[in-house]
Amino acid sequence: MPAFATAPNLSHYAKLRISSYREQLRQGDIDSFRADYVHRGKSYNYSIKLSRTPCNYGGHRHWFNCPSCSRRTSVLYRINTYVCRHCTRAAYGSQLEQPIDNLFRRLNAIRARLGWQAGIAHGVGERPKGMHRTTYNKIIWEYMNLMDRLLGAQCKMLNIQRYPHSK
Ligand SMILES: [Zn+2]
Repeated sequence: MPAFATAPNLSHYAKLRISSYREQLRQGDIDSFRADYVHRGKSYNYSIKLSRTPCNYGGHRHWFNCPSCSRRTSVLYRINTYVCRHCTRAAYGSQLEQPIDNLFRRLNAIRARLGWQAGIAHGVGERPKGMHRTTYNKIIWEYMNLMDRLLGAQCKMLNIQRYPHSK
């Protein structure tokens, strides 16, 4: 299975913690935070909404509102934009992993049917003796189609995977 289909390690992401802004937040009625930075050669400038909830003993607790899902959170992680922990997981979550595993399974099932060595790295083999050419063409077409989808899915994964290594 692909090594890159792993859970995110959040310690690799640049973070924003609401606690770092406690002093500024105490001083005034700030309802948004300006994010202005360059990440992977691209400049970002957008506002992150803040919200607050009353504390039991008076005063307020401040939160970021995730720019992606609007959830209240005390820490944001930078993928491209800053997002909450749920949104970083969503980027890695089952909707990306499962289809990739599925694609590998289906590709290997086809390889087995054609008598090719398991593993897409071994490339495309021969038409098995005795298999009708139209049957073979149909299978090859499906194989190539699956390969296309796999490459597309891998690019998506790799883009995400590269971000944790930059600060
Ligand atoms: Zn979010």
